[in-house]
Amino acid sequence: MFERYGIRFTFVDTTDVPAVERAIEEQTKYVYLETPTNPLLRVSDIAAVTKVAHAKKKLVIVDNTFATPYLQRPLELGADVVLHSCTKYLGGHSDVVCGALIGNDKALRDELAFFQNAVGGTPGPMDCFLVLRGTKTLALRMQRHCENATALARWLEKQPGVARVIYPGLESHPQHALAKKQMAGFGGMVAFELAGDVAAANTFASSTSIFTLAESLGGVESLVEVPPSMTHASIPADVRRAQGLADGLVRLSVGVEHVDDLIADCQQALAKALATRTPVAAKR
Ligand SMILES: *Cc1c(COP(=O)(O)O)cnc(C)c1O
Repeated sequence: MFERYGIRFTFVDTTDVPAVERAIEEQTKYVYLETPTNPLLRVSDIAAVTKVAHAKKKLVIVDNTFATPYLQRPLELGADVVLHSCTKYLGGHSDVVCGALIGNDKALRDELAFFQNAVGGTPGPMDCFLVLRGTKTLALRMQRHCENATALARWLEKQPGVARVIYPGLESHPQHALAKKQMAGFGGMVAFELAGDVAAANTFASSTSIFTLAESLGGVESLVEVPPSMTHASIPADVRRAQGLADGLVRLSVGVEHVDDLIADCQQALAKALATRTPVAAKR
C-alpha cells in the first residue's frame, strides 16, 4: 500500500540480529518488528535489535499486539515506539476496532498526534470506552490466556497426527530461552501443523464448536483459523512455504474458557480432521 507514496522497505528476519544490522541502509528511517510474530510466533530480541538500530541512529517500532504490556514492555528494552492493535487483547472482547502508538519521546509523540489529528484516524468515544474498560481486566485475562494456552500446547504436543506445535512456552520453541528472558509469560496464541495437509487443517477449523472460526484474536472467547487459506492466503504459496508457513498450519487464539472444555473440543475436531485427511497423492 505504501510503495505508491515512495516508501521503500526491506523484509528481514528480525530473529537474526546481524541480518537486521546488514539490512539497515543510510536512508533507513526505522526498524519495524513484531514479536511474537503472527502466525509462527517467532520471538525477536528487542534489546539486541534496538542496540544495532540505535548505533546507526535509526528508530525502532515494535508491534506488541500478541504479547500485550502485561507480558512484554518494549519501551523498557529501548524501543522508541510501541504499537498495539487494541482490537485484540487490550479490548479483549472482540467488539472494537482500535489501535494505539505509545512512545517516551514527547517530540515524536506530538508529531504523531498532529499527523493523526490532521489525517483523521482518530477513535470515537465509544471505541475508547471499550478499550479502557478492557484494560481493567487485562492482567486477569492474560494470566488465564497463558495458563490455557500452555496446557493446550502441551496436550497438542502429545497427539498423533500433529506434526509440530509452536508456542514460545514450549522447550521445543527455537527462541524459548529468549522468550523466557524477555516476556513475563508466553501469551494466548498457539499454532500447530497437521501433517502438512491444508484439507485436514480446514476440517479441524470447521469442526470445533467452542473455538469459533474467525480471523481475529485476543478476545475472551477462543478462535481458530487456518493461515494458509485465511489470514495469509494473499501470500503466494511458494513464498509462504519458504517462510516456514506449512500448508497444514492451524492458529488458535486460546480464550479464557475452562481448559478441559477447550481440550475436549480440540480432541473431537482433531479426530474428524485426521479421519478426512486427503491421501498424499490427491493433494494439489
Ligand atoms: C490485528 C493485528 C494488526 C492490525 O490491527 P487492526 O486492529 O486489525 O487494524 C496489527 N498487528 C498485529 C500483530 C495484529 O494481530
